Amino acid sequence: MTKKFYEKTPTERLNELSLTAKLRQDFTVDQNLVNAAIVENYISDFREPEGVLRRLQLDGHFYTVPMAIEEPSVIAAANNGARMLNFNGGIFTEKIQPAALTLGQLLFEDVNVAALHKFIDQFAAEIQRVADLAKPSIVKRGGGLVKVQLRELSLKQVSVDFLIDTKEAMGANIVNTILAAEKEFFQPFIQHCLGAILSNDGRNNLTKVFGRVPFAVLGGEAVANKIVALSRFSKVDSYRAVTENKGIFNGVGAVVLATGNDWRAVEAAGHAYASQQGTYQSLSHWSIDANQQQLVGELVLPLPIGSIGGAITALPQAQRNLALLEKPSVQTLREIIAGVGLAQNLAALKAIAGEGIQTGHMRMQYRALALQVGAQPHEVLPLARRLSTQKTVDTQLASQILKEIRR
Ligand code: NDP
Repeated sequence: MTKKFYEKTPTERLNELSLTAKLRQDFTVDQNLVNAAIVENYISDFREPEGVLRRLQLDGHFYTVPMAIEEPSVIAAANNGARMLNFNGGIFTEKIQPAALTLGQLLFEDVNVAALHKFIDQFAAEIQRVADLAKPSIVKRGGGLVKVQLRELSLKQVSVDFLIDTKEAMGANIVNTILAAEKEFFQPFIQHCLGAILSNDGRNNLTKVFGRVPFAVLGGEAVANKIVALSRFSKVDSYRAVTENKGIFNGVGAVVLATGNDWRAVEAAGHAYASQQGTYQSLSHWSIDANQQQLVGELVLPLPIGSIGGAITALPQAQRNLALLEKPSVQTLREIIAGVGLAQNLAALKAIAGEGIQTGHMRMQYRALALQVGAQPHEVLPLARRLSTQKTVDTQLASQILKEIRR
């Protein structure tokens, strides 16, 4: 019997595609047997550049933070932001919730709400037992179901929310396993149940970090005031807020990816949290401490991540990055990621308030332009340097300077 595409080996799959010998070879070079087992229809790895934020000071401890990202200026900016914050002891953390909880939902429509309420009250102990039996290993680790609540929505729709402590794991599969068992237990209402599914809402999984920068480090009080004004702007203008949050996720996403975590879950939770006031706002907040002559910044982020489980454990590159971070607990990893977000945000705001975002940005973008016009690795830096001295830059000019360098 002929094998289906998904049953074939990566080599067989490549052979089935109409590729040139060169293209087939290019895909083959980047194949990796471990990763081939992770996704369906695997043909090759897709690699990203990885660099480090060299000195992220968090609660007095210095971390070297791996960042995987394709955007040229992000890692340079993160280092710059952390450097400015380090003048005043770096970034600090504040616990704002007793434990990070992951949410799961049983979704009902056209249901007798009073009867559902009564069922939840009457069978509270059984509901707990069902959850504990569905995933005894998480109970042994001190986690499991913490709370059940009912939320009435419009159109006779009701969500029964299960708040679950998934300990060191992000918990999507743990929560979905518990929900599947609970759905069975809610048998009297099964006709009205639309489904049982994890929610990526992260309001029960918040991490707060903050830091201060002396005015002098920023280049004076005027720059600090401008940063605060920009921060106010992004509370009232969603056009600005979305870009500011994109900048925060430049740093956040790069560490989330480097540690094998699910960046879609982190981004979805972050953007939902940014809209919690009913309008989309920036996630950070900057203010002035006139007495201390300092700019004060804080960032609160939902971070549904793990330090174990999923791809984190499966991917060797995620494991070596966690080793670089000294194998942090999941809460420390959340704080590191939020800290990078704050540093990244500071660097972007400082650039906008000061020399403008384009100057620093383009210095790094020129490296990508150099590669685009065919520069070899040893030619990239000399070409980028030459381009940064030009008034206007385009592909033609880059090609021309590359020719000059090669003469
Ligand atoms: P896993 O399914 O890998 O579960 C976590 C694993 O870690 C379990 O096998 C558990 O073992 C083990 N473990 C070991 N030590 C601990 C500890 N101290 N605390 C907790 N678990 C421990 O991962 P998750 O449930 O975290 O699911 C995350 C994955 O789900 C991600 O890859 C994500 O992309 C994906 N996903 C995301 C969805 C979404 O965001 N909407 C939806 C579906 C999947 P044991 O079983 O013995 O307890």
